[in-house]
Amino acid sequence: MITFRGGVHPPAHKGLTDELALDDAAPPAVVRVPLQQHIGAPAKPVVEKGAAVKLGQTIAEPGGFVSVPHHAPVSGTVKAIKEYPHASGRALLAIEIENDGQDTPADELEPMPDWRAVPVEALRDRVRAAGIVGLGGAAFPTHVKLSPPKDKPIHTVIINGAECEPYLTCDYRLMIETPDAVLVGADIVRRCVGAERVIVGIEDNKPRAVEMMERNARDLDKVEIAAVHTKYPQGSELQLIRAVAGAELPKSKLPMEAGVVVQNVGTALAIYEAVVGGKPLVDRAVTVTGPGVVSPRNLRVRLGTLCNELIEQAGGMTPDVGRVIMGGPMMGLAMPGADVPCMKSTSGLLLLLRHDLVSYELNPCIRCGKCETHCPAGLATARIGLAVELGNIERAEALAVLECIECGCCSYVCPARRPMTQLMRVGKSKVLKERARRKIGA
Ligand code: SF4
Ligand code: SF4
Repeated sequence: MITFRGGVHPPAHKGLTDELALDDAAPPAVVRVPLQQHIGAPAKPVVEKGAAVKLGQTIAEPGGFVSVPHHAPVSGTVKAIKEYPHASGRALLAIEIENDGQDTPADELEPMPDWRAVPVEALRDRVRAAGIVGLGGAAFPTHVKLSPPKDKPIHTVIINGAECEPYLTCDYRLMIETPDAVLVGADIVRRCVGAERVIVGIEDNKPRAVEMMERNARDLDKVEIAAVHTKYPQGSELQLIRAVAGAELPKSKLPMEAGVVVQNVGTALAIYEAVVGGKPLVDRAVTVTGPGVVSPRNLRVRLGTLCNELIEQAGGMTPDVGRVIMGGPMMGLAMPGADVPCMKSTSGLLLLLRHDLVSYELNPCIRCGKCETHCPAGLATARIGLAVELGNIERAEALAVLECIECGCCSYVCPARRPMTQLMRVGKSKVLKERARRKIGA
């Protein structure tokens, strides 16, 4: 089976939730919708304190081309527009809405059941108007990916169903519970970018998802389901492209350079719901899991719901919780607390126990070479780490630190417990700052 070089095999821990169907989370009494919940410019509010809003109404407009609008996840009243705690650890502007419990619909977007007759431009506009971003975690505005330049022809749409992060199962559940809708979403993407074929890549530790997707794709033209080798980070864009399309791309190149567009299964579902059903992105699937949760669950969650409410709906925390992570254990964000809202990029909430946590220190490198063997980007990881530690940013840049995808494999395998991924992040940030300084001639 074709795969990528490097990578690791962390314990999957998917058994906590993989047999649990997606349930609707209880509607929250209030939602806080952050204006910054995607890559690109934050959205700008178009409602004021005290305004009555309907479910799905636009409450913030895009702040630029690489930006999306946000919509009210409940009907009710705008209580405040101010800074609230955010998963990034900073306080950022959010719109707080008090839920009136009525779910009065705004009906801003007309359903397009006959979408095959709709011009491609109108489909892209719909995806943007619905506020859709990549739901796999990166949160890149989807309409931008659906608008490749004319000189970059796209031949393949890859739907990312790998879900390689340990613990997370919400994409798995979507493939089992709504495979037909995911495939229609994929077909809409194919039409938008003018591709010939669709390949759905699913890790081979999810045979039920492979079977359900295959069954639903059986009568579709040029749609292939590819079971890919189970290895972390198989769901990372460049690694998945390598595995299913055989194309090797450096991080500095976009997938479109290889004639490929990649969308996550949750994004494909959101595209289906926005186009066929006229539904803006107001909720998403979230896995609430880990040894620190009493009853792990898969939930369909209104965006803006506070994480601590979701943890309560999963039976609450056990007493020895050491950390709450938004996302999976390898690439997720360790949060300052659970008093932050779920966003479009929130695929999971993971609660780890104190004794599960590994502490990393700047111990000396023992030059075992493990980090380099396992780096999926093929980087001289140990040498970059040393360069960053010594403050030699030119050397880190020359060793291609910017190619790092921050997958965490190097930290995972390092026997000296060096904080390798953290060193990479610091190195990348310093290189980018230095480049910006050179550009303005400071
Ligand atoms: S250097 Fe970056 S890409 Fe390579 S293993 Fe470490 S985190 Fe992953
Ligand atoms: S795995 Fe750790 S100890 Fe081994 S070479 Fe890499 S940084 Fe050094």
